[in-house]
Amino acid sequence: MENVCGWIAQAGDFPVRDRLSGKQKADWLIIGAGITGLCAAHSLAEMHTQARIVIVDRQRAAQGASARNSGFVVAHEHPGTEELSGHQGFAGYEVDTAISRAASEEVRQRIARHGIECDFRDAGYFFAVNDPAKLTHVEAKLQTLNAVGAAAQYLEGEQLRQKLGTGHYRAAIWCGNGNALLQPAKYVKGLLNALPPTVTLYENTDITGIERLGKGRIRAQGTEGSIEAKQVLVCLNAFIPRSGIESSRTFPMELSASLTRPLSDKEFQAFGSVEPWGVLSTRPLGATVRLTPDRRVMIRNTAEYRSRDLSKSDLLVRRKHHVLGLQRRFPWLTEQDIHYTWTGHLSASRSGQAYFSEVEEGVFAVAGCNGSGVARGTLWGRLLAELASGTRSPMLTSVMQRAQPGWLPPKPLLDIGAMLRMRVEAVRARTEI
Ligand SMILES: Cc1cc2nc3c(=O)[nH]c(=O)nc-3n(C[C@H](O)[C@H](O)[C@H](O)COP(=O)(O)OP(=O)(O)OC[C@H]3O[C@@H](n4cnc5c(N)ncnc54)[C@H](O)[C@@H]3O)c2cc1C
Repeated sequence: MENVCGWIAQAGDFPVRDRLSGKQKADWLIIGAGITGLCAAHSLAEMHTQARIVIVDRQRAAQGASARNSGFVVAHEHPGTEELSGHQGFAGYEVDTAISRAASEEVRQRIARHGIECDFRDAGYFFAVNDPAKLTHVEAKLQTLNAVGAAAQYLEGEQLRQKLGTGHYRAAIWCGNGNALLQPAKYVKGLLNALPPTVTLYENTDITGIERLGKGRIRAQGTEGSIEAKQVLVCLNAFIPRSGIESSRTFPMELSASLTRPLSDKEFQAFGSVEPWGVLSTRPLGATVRLTPDRRVMIRNTAEYRSRDLSKSDLLVRRKHHVLGLQRRFPWLTEQDIHYTWTGHLSASRSGQAYFSEVEEGVFAVAGCNGSGVARGTLWGRLLAELASGTRSPMLTSVMQRAQPGWLPPKPLLDIGAMLRMRVEAVRARTEI
């Protein structure tokens, strides 16, 4: 079976750009043309109107995780027990929420400025569970979320069923005021199409390393050419080690998702003709599910610690898992109703915080989106451009202070530890897949 992302398929094609060839020069080089790299390119172009800015991607631009994600624009994360109001972690949660809200606002501004059509729905989403025991400390969570301005509400039973069209979910916290949904491939394609002429994009250009030359110049080596630049921004997310940066303390994960055909009028009416919605699980390995504006159901219910792509037969196994998850919510859906199944890679850290740093003079990098990179990547792109340009702002300071990804053990201990942790999390999430 083919690994085809439904969002990309529906976003439409765009012209293929050249590969990087020969020996080139630029003022600024950005490696990675996802949300982060593209937003960095926009910000650099706004700040340095005369500069030559080059952005390169190993594959087609705007077709990595930035197009393959579930499209949740995260302004308010589900608070952990230690982050609840009155606990020690609340101060950190408040700072993280201020960053996430700024990031969510940055998405709105990018959409408005570039006129991006991406099915943006500014209507919040649900943290919902099948097993009510998986939604603990409800009162404290509502109080915490509302203390940071989330406009959170608790729903259960019939009231929730009427919102979602399925009785699978038995309890939920709906959370608005910044939380939103979009079609990710359309969003990132919009960022790509809006690049100004001072930005040159090379596709299918695999950067294999960065080396420092004399006189403050840096050379990035591609497979068919190289490019020298004064400043380099590394926006590779899960693939950051490919640039030679091994110190990010982030690790890769591979997720898989499926998108169904549109529901028929009859099915939709049986559903209760509900508004499009998005559900996140309260467990890290629980399912993410959406009912899209064109009445398709998307499910993402696998996440694995791995850096290599799943094989076709492995992907088929993951799709069976998607079918299981779909049928728990909508029993009449079968594997034949799935139109697209795909995978994507994200980068995670032990603390849940990002790596955001000047790696060495002239080289700046960010990684560790931890599953919230639609909004954060949009903000980080601008902030990384500001850091590299020597501009400082309270938000940049705040992001840099929080950027502590946490210690990771060396391999093979990391591999064993991560594998075991994922198994434990899978058991904990088994009612929520
Ligand atoms: C299935 C899935 C669901 C997700 N759901 C959500 C969600 O709902 N909400 C949310 O906020 N986040 C979500 N995420 C995370 C989100 O997609 C990422 O945080 C975000 O896309 C990161 O953007 P980026 O630009 O940093 O990285 P990417 O989009 O990964 O871009 C990195 C780019 O670097 C390129 N590259 C790699 N190696 C090289 C190289 N050697 N040389 C040149 N280029 C290279 C890649 O081709 C890629 O285009 C999800 C991720 C996945 C996989």
